[in-house]
Amino acid sequence: MQRTVIVGAGLAGLRTAEELRRAGFDGELVLVGGETHLPYDRPPLSKEVVRGERDDTTLKPREFFDDERIELRLGSAASGLDTAAREVTLADGTVLSYDELVIATGLTPRRIGGLPDLDGVHVLRSIDESLALRADLAPGKQALIVGAGFIGCELAASMVSAGIDVVLVEPQPTPLASVLGEQVGELVARLHTDAGVDLRAGVGLAELSGEGRVSRAALTDGSEVDVDVVAIGIGSVPVTDWLEGSGVDVENGVLCDEVGRTSAPHVWAAGDVAAWQIEVGGRKRVEHWSNAGEQAKILAGALTGTGDSDAAAQVPYFWSDQYGLKIQALGTVAAGDTVHVVKDDGRKFLAYYERDSVLAGVVGAGLAGKVMKMRGQIAGAAPIGDVLEAASA
Ligand SMILES: Cc1cc2nc3c(=O)[nH]c(=O)nc-3n(C[C@H](O)[C@H](O)[C@H](O)COP(=O)(O)OP(=O)(O)OC[C@H]3O[C@@H](n4cnc5c(N)ncnc54)[C@H](O)[C@@H]3O)c2cc1C
Repeated sequence: MQRTVIVGAGLAGLRTAEELRRAGFDGELVLVGGETHLPYDRPPLSKEVVRGERDDTTLKPREFFDDERIELRLGSAASGLDTAAREVTLADGTVLSYDELVIATGLTPRRIGGLPDLDGVHVLRSIDESLALRADLAPGKQALIVGAGFIGCELAASMVSAGIDVVLVEPQPTPLASVLGEQVGELVARLHTDAGVDLRAGVGLAELSGEGRVSRAALTDGSEVDVDVVAIGIGSVPVTDWLEGSGVDVENGVLCDEVGRTSAPHVWAAGDVAAWQIEVGGRKRVEHWSNAGEQAKILAGALTGTGDSDAAAQVPYFWSDQYGLKIQALGTVAAGDTVHVVKDDGRKFLAYYERDSVLAGVVGAGLAGKVMKMRGQIAGAAPIGDVLEAASA
């Protein structure tokens, strides 16, 4: 019987297992997870979980895995891969043979080298990290958040709503500048400052100090802040160390073709760790929730030979929740695009992203209907002039 092993029991790993069954794969399915938890959802970790509104984000109950004949091997990470022998080695010494292997090991938070090892300093990727951060939070505490990317921004919003004083530092000129550009970054900055966040743009973290527990932070502008808790959100790196020497090509992620095949025979990859070939612009990793499910579907179709899905046909989508607003991005938005802000009421906003004179993407805050209705025009590369004319009518 054919055996497919999926390494990484997160969203992409789970979705791939589901999609393989849906595509008619009837062989053995093994899902290997480094964490002891059943596959769980990460978006709530910087939102409901850290705010104390939810403790559990499990995606499927254990019975689901029994019903679908998915063997779970949790609590022991893959530590090596031999693509010639078609074997994965786990940290506990187990060797698993496979006919097909799917890599879905996600990301690990980037850390700042040289900082002292102090209690009260957190990163956020896993549910255990979210619960540990939450345990350090209480109304009136002073938090420093380093990095105003999506996780830093969401943490700032969650903490402020829980009565915590937040200093948010970001070396770039605005929050989210490298993803959404500075113009929309300014609109996001306004959400933070209006909510009472002490946002310091153009500033980074220089040093942390304290006795056992963090109590003071020195910033790159020479200022200092007293802190009870520090959250570092400066991006994440793909988990590929266990692939060293395996022959699977890695370059800031596992390099894949447009359906998830890697450079090694019978080895595939999906989710945040995977850099898939895209029609324009070479290979790209996408660190967003919807992408994991879309790639799982395409990969499962290709692996079983049943699919005709086309990666290029997807219109990328992601969202972020901040201050009671859903910030949504549809299409490919890039910091270098020309941005047209077509609505701005001081809180909610809508921006069109122009590249090569067409509508490449849309970003909106609190305007879900107006974002989602642009899907067809983004997919059809509508001329920006026509789109702007319609918006002003
Ligand atoms: C705090 C937070 C908030 C987010 N919010 C949003 C949001 O609002 N909107 C949005 O679009 N996206 C959001 N995302 C992104 C989204 O959650 C990810 O895109 C998605 O989880 C990617 O799925 P994945 O399976 O590739 O990676 P993961 O979900 O990280 O799963 C990878 C799994 O592999 C395991 N693993 C790692 N190494 C090994 C190994 N060697 N052996 C075995 N297992 C291993 C890990 O433990 C993990 O369980 C958020 C992410 C985080 C962390």
